[in-house]
Amino acid sequence: MASVAFKDVRKAFGTVEVLHGVSIDIEEGEFVVLVGPSGCGKSTLLRMLAGLEHVSAGEIIIGERVVNALPPKERDIAMVFQNYALYPHITVAENMGFSLTLKGVSKAEIAERVRPAAEILGLSHLLDRYPRQLSGGQRQRVAMGRAIVREPQVFLFDEPLSNLDAKLRVSMRSEMKNLHQRLKTTTVYVTHDQIEAMTMADKIVVMHDGEVAQVGAPLELYDRPNNLFVAGFIGSPA
Ligand code: ADP
Ligand code: MG
Repeated sequence: MASVAFKDVRKAFGTVEVLHGVSIDIEEGEFVVLVGPSGCGKSTLLRMLAGLEHVSAGEIIIGERVVNALPPKERDIAMVFQNYALYPHITVAENMGFSLTLKGVSKAEIAERVRPAAEILGLSHLLDRYPRQLSGGQRQRVAMGRAIVREPQVFLFDEPLSNLDAKLRVSMRSEMKNLHQRLKTTTVYVTHDQIEAMTMADKIVVMHDGEVAQVGAPLELYDRPNNLFVAGFIGSPA
């Protein structure tokens, strides 16, 4: 696992600046939740960290390295999105191992890595099924499994639960938390849902209009919001 830092990061699309100098420090093994209303710049930050979006100014650091110019596949990061499209024509096990197949890892080693990941996620009995034979929650677990078998330094999640129904979302929250307690992989988790942030985060970064409004542990933000935006956003239900 690795630490992650954003140092005064800016992002402009054309002439419109959407991130105005964001600085965030994430420690090794920390579960950090970026939360804020739709459009505040959460996905853009995550995509820049993954190398999918160019950084306009400032630095992004993973471990000891400034990664601004590093291509995505050299960053040792695994990202799970809301639309976790699985390959429909291959099995759960093959979906989970797919990135390793691409890297030329042997079949035997892929099986060795898929097995414990499937066990952690409760997918062991489903490894031979096809995605269409799974429930929404099971598919989301496969998408997480795909990230886990890569054994990355950092996990990135962009609203991974927002397509699930409310009940499943609640149980997946605690599953993801348990998963983090076992793997201890540095995690950056994006959501617009303050309850999700409060229940999952070691540290919450509240974003507002392309800036960091406040950083703190969940209870710290709840008890001592720095400003009215944070008070309103963290204090009131969705
Ligand atoms: P969030 O994930 O918090 O909802 P985003 O990071 O997706 O926010 O978007 C932040 C801002 O950047 C929004 O105003 C959005 O319209 C704008 N934006 C995002 N991607 C692009 C793009 N490719 N081109 C132009 N504007 C974009
Ligand atoms: Mg987004």
